[in-house]
Amino acid sequence: MSDVPTRGPETAGSEPLLKLSGLEQVFDTGKGEVPAVGGVDLEVRPGKVLCLVGESGCGKTTTARAAAGLTKPTGGTVAFRGKDVSRMSSAERLAYRRAVQFIHQDPYAALNPTRTVFSTLTAGLRRHKQVRSKAEAREKAGELLRLVDLTPPESYLDSYPHQLSGGQRQRVNVARSLAMNPELLICDESTSMLDVSIRVSLLNTLGKLRDELDVGFLFITHDLAVAKYFAWDGEIAVMYLGKVVEHGPTPEVIGNPQHPYTKALIGAVCEPDPDLARANRAASELRSADIPSLTALPSGCAFHPRCPAYEPGLCDDAEPPLIRFGGRPAAPGAAGGRRLACHVVSRDHGRSPSDDPAESALGSGSPRGAAWSA
Ligand code: SF4
Repeated sequence: MSDVPTRGPETAGSEPLLKLSGLEQVFDTGKGEVPAVGGVDLEVRPGKVLCLVGESGCGKTTTARAAAGLTKPTGGTVAFRGKDVSRMSSAERLAYRRAVQFIHQDPYAALNPTRTVFSTLTAGLRRHKQVRSKAEAREKAGELLRLVDLTPPESYLDSYPHQLSGGQRQRVNVARSLAMNPELLICDESTSMLDVSIRVSLLNTLGKLRDELDVGFLFITHDLAVAKYFAWDGEIAVMYLGKVVEHGPTPEVIGNPQHPYTKALIGAVCEPDPDLARANRAASELRSADIPSLTALPSGCAFHPRCPAYEPGLCDDAEPPLIRFGGRPAAPGAAGGRRLACHVVSRDHGRSPSDDPAESALGSGSPRGAAWSA
């Protein structure tokens, strides 16, 4: 990794790289306004991972696109290194564009089929005049391929996308994003289309970039097993219908989930052990599988039509705020310790977590434990 530019001391430290404050994204459609993201507060720090998890349509990708500057939020702010992106000068915006790279879900659509790997990897470098000759460009492209474990680079540089497997294409996508020496990678379901063994291998490569280059990650996934594997030392934020409903250090959220929706997601993870699978299901049975429309959100807690812990008169009256939970101090690199949006759990919060069947079924062991694998 020594041949890759490393960051100067000015990029180290615990200040957030990315800070989302009250982020809102409302889409105007023929069916009315769709509040895809309804006030999200999150932070990502250098070398840390924040996983956004939730079902399709919960607002993960919309949040990620706004964070990457690909869309303009209708409310709230996106700040990079303390600077509001909407108030950046064009030079600052260019630096932000280089520092924050977005890796798409589909490794097939993300690459231009008429360009070789060499051409794809060096287009940005040539545009920004960061290489002076073709020889230097090939050398740089080779370094990038080695970073993502595509070796020897000579075997790939002159290949076209159709000559590569899905996993190799996604590695080329990651290598392309590294060409700009990014500080933050935003990965939108970037491993979901890959076979399981290739997925784990790519997650390990991304983990190497996080640990050795201090790259921060906003990692979007619908798969809690992937989140557990990749963000064990980081944080998970669970989104439901455009809002964060539970957020905290990964071992706590996975090992001792509190929000009924988090429990339902965990219960839905494929579990090879039938006893654990039964316990997970018992702890998370939903009242309904139907996800409400964003154009007609339920009153009070938006999860109440599906929630197994629903209490009439309480849950359907007022929306539960996302508040600090458990009274624990914020973990290093955490945006704000553990947070939860649930009337019932907050009210009952004095009880022992060990009474909770979800906790005893899942435990809080290592991310590579026998129960789950990515
Ligand atoms: Fe379920 Fe009520 Fe909590 Fe909402 S507030 S998650 S409906 S228990």
